[in-house]
Amino acid sequence: MKQYTVLTLFPEMIIQAFSHSILARAQKENHICIEAIDIRSFSKNKQKHVDDYPYGGGAGMVMQAQPIYDAYQSIPESKKGRVIYLSPQGKTFTQQLAQELAKEENIVFLCGHYEGVDERVLEQLEVEEISIGDFVLTGGEIAAIAVIDAVARLVPGVLGKEASFQEESFSDGLLEYPQYTRPPVFMGRAVPDILLSGHHGNIKKWRKEQSILRTKQKRPDLLK
Ligand code: SAM
Repeated sequence: MKQYTVLTLFPEMIIQAFSHSILARAQKENHICIEAIDIRSFSKNKQKHVDDYPYGGGAGMVMQAQPIYDAYQSIPESKKGRVIYLSPQGKTFTQQLAQELAKEENIVFLCGHYEGVDERVLEQLEVEEISIGDFVLTGGEIAAIAVIDAVARLVPGVLGKEASFQEESFSDGLLEYPQYTRPPVFMGRAVPDILLSGHHGNIKKWRKEQSILRTKQKRPDLLK
């Protein structure tokens, strides 16, 4: 079973996000285990503060090193592994990275908030920084949810049919072909005849052509 542990100020966001559909079932069937650890419960001050003013001045607050470090230390050794800090400064997350992370047994995700995290705890935990794109979110939770979702669905057994992800966008460097389901005609738009032909060889060929065509149209950068 793959173990994903999330260090966060908002554990309920993580638990709620994975309590539906495919990934809720994957947890019930013990393919994956997703746990959230509340960093605030490791605060040592009475008010349970986890942030403070930045040295050198400037806007906003910075998450302190100690509660994050103690939250990390509370994880049993058997569940520790690669530590990923979700950060707009990290390398951009891709399907290729999702495939690499899906092979890991344990991953710890650290979600920042406010202006970010005291640099020293990032160094101490030897984090890898991953960004979900060149924009700034209020916190790392949404990014962690996106990364865990993309990784967990690649774990064998999580999706019903392995083929479901073997043929989809990015798996072979192309976007997926267009999909259709019933009815055969919707608002005067018919499903392409070839998909109703029952000829598997021709359908496969058509889908490959469509994949290349739409990659050219929508994401020509992928073809380079
Ligand atoms: N002050 C930081 C900076 O300029 O680099 C941004 C801090 S951001 C407001 C708060 C937290 O949101 C970060 O610590 C990080 O965990 C998360 N975050 C924001 N944007 C992200 C992104 N594009 N990808 C992953 N995590 C992100």
